[in-house]
Amino acid sequence: MRICRTKAELRAARTDLGLRGARIGLVPTMGYLHDGHLSLIRAARAETDRVIATIFVNPTQFGPTEDLASYPRDTDRDLALLRAENVDAVFLPEPGEMYAEDAETVVETTELAGVLIGALRPGHFRGVATVVTKLFNLTRPDRAYFGQKDYQQLCVIRRMVRDLDIGVEVRGMPTRRECDGLALSSRNVRLTAAARAQAPALYRALLAGQAALEAGRGVAAAQDAIRAALADADLALVRSVDIRDAQSLAQVPDRPDAPVVILLAVAFGDVLLIDNLVATPKRPA
Ligand code: AMP
Repeated sequence: MRICRTKAELRAARTDLGLRGARIGLVPTMGYLHDGHLSLIRAARAETDRVIATIFVNPTQFGPTEDLASYPRDTDRDLALLRAENVDAVFLPEPGEMYAEDAETVVETTELAGVLIGALRPGHFRGVATVVTKLFNLTRPDRAYFGQKDYQQLCVIRRMVRDLDIGVEVRGMPTRRECDGLALSSRNVRLTAAARAQAPALYRALLAGQAALEAGRGVAAAQDAIRAALADADLALVRSVDIRDAQSLAQVPDRPDAPVVILLAVAFGDVLLIDNLVATPKRPA
């Protein structure tokens, strides 16, 4: 596995790996890898010829009061996991390697970046879109793999790729969960034992909302079911509960006639957990 710490090393690795038309799969991450990340690597391994993973805790997607400094890191463990998955190259830049001191150019999906998580975390999706564009330019992948766990992020990246004719096939992969339903996340290790015990309430709430919608009970009733399922988790601060069109993330009427996505953001102390589930509402008879 080639370990690239500079952009020049990454570009050289990309050139070598792409010889004779080998198809390149890219898996961008912020490290502290778990089975969700590895599922993306395995999909890339199965669908492309050469796999490049990146580990970069991107400062531009964190707000000034967010958890950049406390975001978990364990590079040695990550490298061992990537080696075991037969990853061909990994890019591990320092922030100073990624961004020139006077960098001023950004990529932004102007509407999508401001709603939902973008409203809770101003500037977050501009940071994501900009760094993913840079990673695409550095690695010129055929396919890039992202998790549906970060549903709005996936929508932002798909929109950006379409709007800017980037020519990368974006693959969105299913959310991996613990046995109790909690979506795997690098941030889960920062939960206290008591918060960890309550955190599966997110998934239960999503299932309750999905069941309400699929029984034809409408968006307002689904919202009530979701909030009721979260009520017992007294350490949880519900930041947002949204039910949106699964394709466009647009607002939906109470009786939607196309698939919707239920998006939850719940804080346990300073750990913000997000999760989502798609539901196909039952059409009124
Ligand atoms: P992160 O390191 O959190 O930026 O995540 C890197 C990639 O892994 C993103 O595309 C995430 O959507 C994806 N990912 C994170 N958690 C999961 C999960 N539980 N299941 C599947 N993919 C995930």
